[in-house]
Amino acid sequence: MMEYQAILDTIQSNLQKIENTGTVAAYIPELAKVNKDNFAIYLNRVNGDNYGVGHWDVSFSIQSISKVLTLSKALQLIGTDVWERMDVEPSGDPFNHLSLLELENGIPRNPLINSGAIVIADILVSELKNPKEDFLQYVRDLTNDQTITYNENVALSEKETGFTNYATANLLKSFGNLANDVDTVLDFYFHQCAIEMNCQQLSNAFYLFANRGKCMRNVAHLTLSQVKRINAIMLTCGFYDEAGEFAFEVGLPGKSGVGGGIVALLPNNFTIATWAPGLNPKGNSFLGMQALEQFTTATGESIF
Ligand code: GLU
Repeated sequence: MMEYQAILDTIQSNLQKIENTGTVAAYIPELAKVNKDNFAIYLNRVNGDNYGVGHWDVSFSIQSISKVLTLSKALQLIGTDVWERMDVEPSGDPFNHLSLLELENGIPRNPLINSGAIVIADILVSELKNPKEDFLQYVRDLTNDQTITYNENVALSEKETGFTNYATANLLKSFGNLANDVDTVLDFYFHQCAIEMNCQQLSNAFYLFANRGKCMRNVAHLTLSQVKRINAIMLTCGFYDEAGEFAFEVGLPGKSGVGGGIVALLPNNFTIATWAPGLNPKGNSFLGMQALEQFTTATGESIF
């Protein structure tokens, strides 16, 4: 019998001993206000057992982690038509890199970089009746928690400083890969990034990717094939230009966000969420990456 709580406690005390050289994302001013000393891990096993350490019940901005949930909703709504508008190749570039779009005629490399996520946002704006409300309801239902909300201050802060995202959306529009107007699509995109969750909620939201497409309420949202593809994209594209490093060190599909959250999973086994707002130079949580590396090393539980 694996002593999961003891393993999480050991990871926390190991990481308390090292200097946290991560820095909080400052390009979105609202995120710069978050205390770098926050630290949490929450493990949610498919068999129903749960374990947490640190500030696992404190909410934070999920940021790019939301891109997996919008992709999942878009696949549910329009299926493989999604792939007419974007590719599934790792970018090897930072999340907001623009040149790839220009090189490839407005077809983003994958749905987890900003350009791809903005196209997915466009799909949801087209397909949902009340896009922001309906998407939030989807996230609440997946998580089985009706208290999850957008942080309007974060959404506004992103809007005021989102020059690169405006440039990206305009470029997509100029290539004919955006059906709706730029402001409407970005309003949706800034809100999805501004969803707040704590580590427990995040591990619950991603439960369906470890549970063959069925959420916490045991409702089927995705086919097995869709889950396979989403997990493959998380593994290859979930960590900006550090996806190779994450696969090498941790060995799980997952997604990070500049709010310092990371969620990862082992199919049929568990989801795990970490939060530590200090980021490494590649934009991934400095302590979160190490926590997950220690977890899969200590338990031997990775996809490899
Ligand atoms: N909202 C952020 C942006 O568009 C998301 C960045 C991230 O978490 O990777 O810049």
